[in-house]
Amino acid sequence: MADRAFDVVVVGAGPAGLAAACRAAERGKRVAMLDDNPLPGGQIWRGASQEAAGWIRRAQRLGVEWIAGARVFDAPEPQQLAVEMFADECRIGYGSLILATGARERFLPFPGWTLPNVMGAGGLQALAKSGLPIAGKRVVVGGSGPLLLAVARYLKTHGADVRLIAEQTPQAAVVRFVMRFPRKLAQALALRAGLLGVPYLTSCWPVSAQGREKLESVTLTRDGRAWSEACDYLACGFGLIPNVELAVLLGCRLSANGVAVDGVQETSVKGVFAAGETTGVGGLDLSLVEGEIAGYAAGGNTDRATALFATRAAHRRFAQALERTFALRPELRGLPQPSTFVCRCEDVTWDRVRACRNWREAKLHTRCGMGPCQGRICGGAVEFLLGWHAESVRPPVLPARVRALEQ
Ligand SMILES: Cc1cc2nc3c(=O)[nH]c(=O)nc-3n(C[C@H](O)[C@H](O)[C@H](O)COP(=O)(O)OP(=O)(O)OC[C@H]3O[C@@H](n4cnc5c(N)ncnc54)[C@H](O)[C@@H]3O)c2cc1C
Repeated sequence: MADRAFDVVVVGAGPAGLAAACRAAERGKRVAMLDDNPLPGGQIWRGASQEAAGWIRRAQRLGVEWIAGARVFDAPEPQQLAVEMFADECRIGYGSLILATGARERFLPFPGWTLPNVMGAGGLQALAKSGLPIAGKRVVVGGSGPLLLAVARYLKTHGADVRLIAEQTPQAAVVRFVMRFPRKLAQALALRAGLLGVPYLTSCWPVSAQGREKLESVTLTRDGRAWSEACDYLACGFGLIPNVELAVLLGCRLSANGVAVDGVQETSVKGVFAAGETTGVGGLDLSLVEGEIAGYAAGGNTDRATALFATRAAHRRFAQALERTFALRPELRGLPQPSTFVCRCEDVTWDRVRACRNWREAKLHTRCGMGPCQGRICGGAVEFLLGWHAESVRPPVLPARVRALEQ
């Protein structure tokens, strides 16, 4: 039996989850919003922005129950979630469920990528937001996607010496993209204005990282030329991958982009909705409107949901252009060397992984993807490098205490 039950449970308190919880609560439903972080806000807001504060206040006013530090790791029975909290565990029952579990960064393995201070771009930003002293540190930002600019700007504003941004996409594609979306062009220009003096090198990417105890320099390539940049941190990410594990565990079908949903964001499992980057990477505005639609629909307010379809369609066009523009170039498949670790949890090298025929064989023969991160890091890399997709998801979908598994 569930310890607590709600009409609507929202997993994830990023922009999509916050919007969904508020809209679902507007018609008097009992709504709970869970997130494994101590504060609501998700990856972009992390509880500390005006926009987040507005949604958080609205959720409080509407009586949404906020359950902090709650990690959903299993769905042991129909309409029930197993949740690990800071100090204990519980089961939460739901009438409708909204999955707003967001996305994570894609890492690609290259020689030296496991050295201390080689980090995810969003990861370094998150650490800096949590107090990592970054002032005066030399940082190279590299990989692909608009997140690189946002991270570089944040780090520079907080005193980091951002040496350069290496974007693997060609310049012509980036220019075409920003010219097509005037509002985004304004945002991009504002970001660039805050990065005066920081080179933004297109068709450029890191090929290796060097250092004895920790990172000392990174080697980059551009137009067939390679050179080294001395730095203290490499903030590196090659786009985002939707977090679909919980949805797959619940039996939801996937699309090419993430969790498959219908017009009102309902998944293939009745009563289970999905919103935001778990359904495909598309940025803040798309996450918000998808969250609103899912919340309205779960709250029984379908007219309001339908009224937002046109707005969502416009944001989806942006998401599609984003995906096309920042598609990873095939040369990046040449980044790992035979002895480069692909699975850093289980120390599995590239030559061992590529000798296998599929994920299953790689798991059985090498333990690739079998460590504590359960393939969250190497899975995205292997998907790009070899075109393999994980075949199944088993609980726990996130690491959990043994005691939690026993409940
Ligand atoms: C590391 C990172 C940093 C980013 N930084 C920026 C930035 O600076 N600027 C920018 O414009 N965009 C940034 N983005 C992109 C931004 O997150 C998206 O554009 C958008 O805001 C996503 O909103 P969302 O609500 O779909 O997901 P998110 O904001 O990712 O929220 C999902 C939430 O669900 C929680 N969650 C997931 N699974 C579970 C579970 N099983 N149990 C409990 N909780 C769970 C996560 O911890 C997270 O808080 C970043 C993305 C990432 C991955």
